[in-house]
Amino acid sequence: MQSLTNRVKPVDRKPMTFLEKIYLWEIAKGMMITIKHFFRKKPTIKYPEQTREFSSVFRGLHILNRDEQGRERCTACGLCAVACPAEAITMEAAERKKGEEHLYREEKYAARYEINMLRCIFCGLCEEACPKDAIYLSQTFTPSNLTRAQFIYKKDDLLIPDPNKDPELYAKALGDRKKS
Ligand code: SF4
Ligand code: SF4
Repeated sequence: MQSLTNRVKPVDRKPMTFLEKIYLWEIAKGMMITIKHFFRKKPTIKYPEQTREFSSVFRGLHILNRDEQGRERCTACGLCAVACPAEAITMEAAERKKGEEHLYREEKYAARYEINMLRCIFCGLCEEACPKDAIYLSQTFTPSNLTRAQFIYKKDDLLIPDPNKDPELYAKALGDRKKS
């Protein structure tokens, strides 16, 4: 059949040599490549026993912050939810009652605060939108889970430990963020 273009190239099929026919040489060449990789520096690590150092701008799991007296900073203003491009944040506001001043810093607080981690793209806009330094993205991974429901993080999952009750865990959760 006549070709429509001039790009046809005839294939030169040379008969195979004896070595090529028994494939042993090709197998040995493949094994050499495998063996070479035994002596190279391994790109993988034994997670979770070993962890990589994160970049200073890494954005991980969200933390709901407290002030130095251990009171919740969030005032349920909703700015983080409005700023969130993934609509991952929901909350319900409540009014602080008399005697609850040691729990909540502002007169209004988040009675319910949830983040859907399956929606979150870890952009950090919620952190930037917050006027109370009440939410930030830590340098911790969101752990893996088996069900979708487990990825809806409730307020109790997100709240930083109380600095007065557990200063060590508080400092660990705060990481290299400065107290404000
Ligand atoms: S990090 Fe971005 S996507 Fe995730 S909750 Fe905050 S604003 Fe929404
Ligand atoms: S985390 Fe900050 S922005 Fe979001 S509701 Fe609380 S105070 Fe407002």
